Amino acid sequence: MRGHALLSASSSHRWIHCPPSIRLGERYENRGSEYAAEGTEAHLLCEYRLKQMLGIPMEDPVPGLQYYSPEMEANAEGYAQYVAEVYEKAKESCEDPIVLIEQQVSYERWVRDGFGTADALVVADGTLHVIDYKNGKGVLVECEDNSQMRCYGLGSLELFDGIYDIQNISMTVYQPNRDNISTCMLVKEDLLEWADTVLAPAATLAFEGKGDYACGDWCQFCPVKHICRARADYAMELAKYDFADPDVLEDEDIEDILARADELTSWASDVKDYALRQALSGKEWKGWKLVEGRSNRKYTDEEAVAETVQKAGFDPYEKKLLGITAMTQTLGRKRFNELLGGLVMKPTGKPVLVPESDKRPAMNTAKDDFKEEQ
Ligand code: SF4
Repeated sequence: MRGHALLSASSSHRWIHCPPSIRLGERYENRGSEYAAEGTEAHLLCEYRLKQMLGIPMEDPVPGLQYYSPEMEANAEGYAQYVAEVYEKAKESCEDPIVLIEQQVSYERWVRDGFGTADALVVADGTLHVIDYKNGKGVLVECEDNSQMRCYGLGSLELFDGIYDIQNISMTVYQPNRDNISTCMLVKEDLLEWADTVLAPAATLAFEGKGDYACGDWCQFCPVKHICRARADYAMELAKYDFADPDVLEDEDIEDILARADELTSWASDVKDYALRQALSGKEWKGWKLVEGRSNRKYTDEEAVAETVQKAGFDPYEKKLLGITAMTQTLGRKRFNELLGGLVMKPTGKPVLVPESDKRPAMNTAKDDFKEEQ
């Protein structure tokens, strides 16, 4: 198995928009996060459960999983079930579809040294399915215009076009921690055209460290996001503001500021994180110092506390109802629904102000209720 591609599919959204970020990022180490380690384990479990379902032998990885949890298990089972269903469906229109798991694919025809690993492929006449498991709880990953999925689609075509009669590429992001299954379909010719006109030119620039820096949502996964000058300039440009009325903000001012606030906050917090990490490794920032943050008292030995309190004649424990996740694990999903389905509700979430482009439906406000009454 090869290592990590310089122009990886997973970072393609970034290097397509900001080609020089790849070579700049090479100079700085990207810290692997705990989330990444958990994601790797989740993928391994997905692979195992899917192989189990399809009768393909693989050593049980569970004993070695540091982050194993009932949620991780449920996610892997759901994923395996999903891929198996796609496979079953493919059998209806094709005599000999195949499933490939953790399949290495190469899109080198368009991207120098471009390769990646597709979580699952279902190859059949007519439609080739690319399915990618995402463990993230934060960013919702959509399939539409998703360059990573397209790269996997291209790599899969390189392997199977000609062997199977493929006209369409169906791409699915399976992201259980966000209750998200996002699927989209591209005609083969459209995918190839995108590869020739968008992917390949950007890859050439990125490989050579050329092109223009450009900021956008792709900065959040860039290894130099905290010290990138282009991003800082962009943030500072966002922060500059010409107020129509010098004394108070007009509605339009607030609307403009709202649109910039998230980007500014995220940039500022990246810089602060970086400065703190550096300070912890010994760097001194003029005018700044490290201090201890606030902390709460805690027991040094919970067992000793319980024993001492019991001996003194008190009950040290409180009795609490199991939470929904723990209760589901205790009863099993089916029994949980039978017994408690009617006793579970989803309260209204705390209001959040988001751009109009957000997919969630707008909330009903007191003003709307008043309008209806009128
Ligand atoms: S932080 Fe953004 S603008 Fe700067 S190199 Fe990275 S992707 Fe490009």
